[in-house]
Order: sequence, then C-alpha cells, then structure tokens
Amino acid sequence: MALLGLMGGTFDPVHFGHLRLATEALEAFGLDAVRWIPSGQPGHRDTPTTIALHRVEMVRLAITGEPRFTLDLAETRTSEPTFTINTLKRLRAELGNDRPLVMILGMDSFLSLPTWRSWTELFDLAHFAVGERPGFELSTQTMVSGLALEFARRSATPEAARGAAAGAIMSFPMTLLDISATELRARISRGASIRYLLPESVLAYIGAHRLYR
Ligand code: ATP
Repeated sequence: MALLGLMGGTFDPVHFGHLRLATEALEAFGLDAVRWIPSGQPGHRDTPTTIALHRVEMVRLAITGEPRFTLDLAETRTSEPTFTINTLKRLRAELGNDRPLVMILGMDSFLSLPTWRSWTELFDLAHFAVGERPGFELSTQTMVSGLALEFARRSATPEAARGAAAGAIMSFPMTLLDISATELRARISRGASIRYLLPESVLAYIGAHRLYR
C-alpha cells in the first residue's frame, strides 16, 4: 500500500531545512508522496505572523517541480486553531485506517510533542519520522519522561513504516541545516540577506509582497 508522508508546519517562510527534511524522509522511508499541510492558526504555539494565504503560496512555489510533493489546504481554510490530532483524524476519515501514514518532524518538534493536544493518541493514527536538526539530540535523557517511555516502546527501523499503519517512532539522519524561519524573519527585518537559505522563487515572493519587513 502506498506510503504517505505528512509534512506539517507554519512555513513562515518555507526554507531549505523543510525541503531537505521532506526529501530525505521520502528517500529514507521509500515514501510514495509527501503531503504538505500548512497550519492555519496552530493550537500549540504562537500565532503565525504571516497570513495563511502568503505561507501557502510560498509552499506552493517551493514544492513546484517535485511531483511527489502535494499541498493540503484544509487547515488554512478554518479560522479555528488547528491541532495535529484533528488533522490526523481528518486524514484517516479520508484515507481509511489501513494506509501507513508517516508524520515527518524535525527533532525540535518531536521533543515538544508532550505539549501537543492528545499527544499519546497521535501514535494510534500515524508513524513518526524524526529528522535531525542542529542543536537537538534524540536522547531519552533530554525527553520528558512520558515521551521517553513512548520512544523506548515505539522506536523502530524505517522498515516498520510498511509493516503497520501507525505507531512507530523512527529517526533518520539528514543533512544538517541550521536554518530556521524565526532566524530568516529576523534577518529580513534587519535588512540582512536570506538568499541561498530558501528557494529563489520564495525569495522573490517575499520581496514582491514586502513580507517580514
Ligand atoms: P520557527 O523557527 O519559526 O520555529 P521552523 O523553521 O522550525 O520555524 P516550522 O514551520 O515550525 O519551521 O517547522 C515545520 C517542521 O520542519 C517542524 O517539524 C520542524 O522541526 C522542521 N524543521 C524546520 N526547520 C528545520 C531544519 N533546519 N532542519 C530539520 N527540520 C526542520
């Protein structure tokens, strides 16, 4: 059965860290496709500074040319805060319970999982693929105890993604890129260059719409 990756985020703006995370997950797990799901108003963190319309357009530009990347706009069409648990339930309603779903996360996001709504239920709905990110370490010593327990119980090799529809936690090495959207916004606001940290098409969009100034 086709293996679907899910790439959620605020993408404010989308950058090469996101694109490599999705691409390297695609390869590591033999995913058939990755669905990009820009958040509307995320429930578990600060409101994004940029309206969804712009964040969506930037993702659209960034993923153009990779046919295995698709865009899911459902979260951006609601004014309600969005939670991953609801996203996964929606996808299960759409795709059924048998299809393996692989939620792709950077290590920082994975470590914050216990702050997410109904986080232990997420493992019933999807696998978790955790990519490396500079400054973060996947060690049970640095995880809060509940997460360390789930990690110890669910840790698996990438092959596990095909063996079940959900439930495994699989880390994978990726090209370390110390790029963050927060830092990109800060650079723009102080007039510094962000070229070569994100696609040229996204850079042009940010310039044309005078975002983050
Ligand atoms: P911010 O700096 O504002 O927190 P961000 O750059 O982390 O933003 P998000 O949209 O919050 O971007 O991230 C979406 C997903 O991509 C998260 O799972 C995050 O961990 C992951 N991610 C973002 N940047 C990187 C990176 N440089 N390397 C690996 N993963 C990343």
